Amino acid sequence: MASARLHAIQKPQAVELYAEAPLPTKHGVLRAIVFRERATGKEHMVAVKGDLHGAEGVPVRVHSECLTGEILGSLKCDCRQQLEHALDLVGSSERGAVIYLRQEGRGIGLGNKIRAYALQAAGADTYEANRQLGFGDDLRRYDVAAAILEQLGVKSIDLITNNPLKIAGLQEEGIAVRRRIPSLAQSNPHNIGYLRTKRERTGHLIELDKSTA
Ligand SMILES: [Zn+2]
Repeated sequence: MASARLHAIQKPQAVELYAEAPLPTKHGVLRAIVFRERATGKEHMVAVKGDLHGAEGVPVRVHSECLTGEILGSLKCDCRQQLEHALDLVGSSERGAVIYLRQEGRGIGLGNKIRAYALQAAGADTYEANRQLGFGDDLRRYDVAAAILEQLGVKSIDLITNNPLKIAGLQEEGIAVRRRIPSLAQSNPHNIGYLRTKRERTGHLIELDKSTA
């Protein structure tokens, strides 16, 4: 106990567990947990299955919100399919978690994401559009996800992702990533360019259909 208290003094936790309740879903009964960032009050949602405390190799998806894909059914990205796939996987496992981070558009915000879409409609690819708006390729942060995993008491995770940068980002924040579980990527005529760009520009490990790869 003494060492735990010392740890808390040395490193104030970036998030606090604010609310928790059972949530029946089509993926089974999950625990809906809201964490708040202490510095900003910003809230993030975590869907948890089973007891994670002290667990090794917990299937975890760290997912950044995508209003256009997840709410409007946009075909410009694969966020909704990846989220559904992760919830299915976690729901059918003994334990797991989907950490839903409120960082829209790779961290640039909703309005700037739609501005980037306007540039894409004029011919830019997803990374060129962000650069034209003055943003880097990817402003997503993983410190919040790492702080949440620490609070959940997870010892190591099996990360559901195709993105090597996400694995590296979490490892830099001190999270033990035991292995990668491939995330689902389904191509359609609207997102094939986006998926190819992700694979070519940032080394996403995406297996596309032979017909579209
Ligand atoms: Zn999306």
